[in-house]
Amino acid sequence: DREQRTNTHSYALALHPETLELLDTLGLADRVLESSRQLSKVGIYEGDHPKATLNYSTLALKHPFLSVISQGELERILVESLSEKGHKPLWNHRARFIEQTPDKLKVSVDRLTEGMTGYAVAHIEMQIDKILDYQANYLIGADGHQSVARHIAGINFPETAPSIDYAVFEFKTDADLPNEMRLIIKDDKTHIFWPLPNGYCRWSFQVNHGEAPTQSLQKDHHLLQYGNHGYPLLDREHLDAFLAENAPWFEGSIENLNWRMLIQFEHRLADSFGKHRIWLAGDSAHMTPQAGILSMNVGMREAVDLVDRLASGTTDAERQKALAGYNTQRLAEWEHLLDLDNHISAVDQTASWILGHRTSLIGNIPASGETLSELLAQLHLIEAA
Ligand SMILES: Cc1cc2nc3c(=O)[nH]c(=O)nc-3n(C[C@H](O)[C@H](O)[C@H](O)COP(=O)(O)OP(=O)(O)OC[C@H]3O[C@@H](n4cnc5c(N)ncnc54)[C@H](O)[C@@H]3O)c2cc1C
Repeated sequence: DREQRTNTHSYALALHPETLELLDTLGLADRVLESSRQLSKVGIYEGDHPKATLNYSTLALKHPFLSVISQGELERILVESLSEKGHKPLWNHRARFIEQTPDKLKVSVDRLTEGMTGYAVAHIEMQIDKILDYQANYLIGADGHQSVARHIAGINFPETAPSIDYAVFEFKTDADLPNEMRLIIKDDKTHIFWPLPNGYCRWSFQVNHGEAPTQSLQKDHHLLQYGNHGYPLLDREHLDAFLAENAPWFEGSIENLNWRMLIQFEHRLADSFGKHRIWLAGDSAHMTPQAGILSMNVGMREAVDLVDRLASGTTDAERQKALAGYNTQRLAEWEHLLDLDNHISAVDQTASWILGHRTSLIGNIPASGETLSELLAQLHLIEAA
């Protein structure tokens, strides 16, 4: 990893029931449960009025709830577990180039180190200490939305829907927070509320297109987003106004307002999940709506699936066959998850309001597979095969 360490903040913040089950197979579920807040419901609101509830607790799942945990904490648990197994990520290593030959990959990697630089004002910058050369049969590119692996494999990453801008605030409160995630649909906007562990909560208020800087979804591992960064929309006055307008039910203090950002969420899907010897998992292949946390959750399963397929074959021909299956299945799964094939319809009149707001819901329900189908059924929505 080109960074110096894991994330220091939240970003994606909830695990789906199936992801917790996956972590259970690695012996990590208890650690996640200790550090997370469990939510068994998602409330769908029209402004101030509850319109529908998705209830995970009625589903036949081993863990029938969402586990809200900061991405930084989750990554800490994963790295700790790797280290217990005797593995250590190579921090400060940046893939610079990947060359594909017919029978192998050559990967050159910059080993980075901190160095002092600057003439008038000295500052610390990462510098290349050494260039390392590796050879591999296959490479899994889990290198995020600006993936070098995807770029070098020549895979396109087109938009599936227009980007959406949000003003995001995280703070501590003395309010007795409802123990559910809320999607608040008001006029042409969708806002998101998450209760977090330890009395914190996160609010994402959709703002007009163009309010957030483009390419704002760049992780900054070094800077927590303190202050309003010169964006008036992140002022305390705007937060008060957003809350009064969209969530008048929220009555509580606002303390430790230590994270606020204007973020543009893009929606993209790779037109292939891999080619030849380079294969993709996670954000390198998809960027999805904010509330569903699909990219991270499904992405973790993709990584496991790829490893299984690569480990299953003994010849290249067998592996290529298994990988071709990965590509077909992943593309079909994402078409379905993002309803690109328009396969969701109403069972009866009860669902007409919900269906009228399909763009607010698609990708924003934190579930996939059978769980998603069952939750959609709770909304009187049905999926065509
Ligand atoms: C501010 C912010 C808020 C977010 N909020 C949400 C949210 O509310 N809901 C949601 O669903 N998602 C959210 N996301 C997105 C979420 O974080 C991603 O879906 C998730 O992190 C994807 O995981 P990943 O491992 O695929 O990619 P990443 O987490 O991006 O990890 C990729 C890793 O690859 C490393 N890397 C990249 N290029 C190279 C290279 N050339 N060489 C070596 N290493 C490299 C990076 O350093 C990084 O550690 C947010 C993201 C950000 C930045």
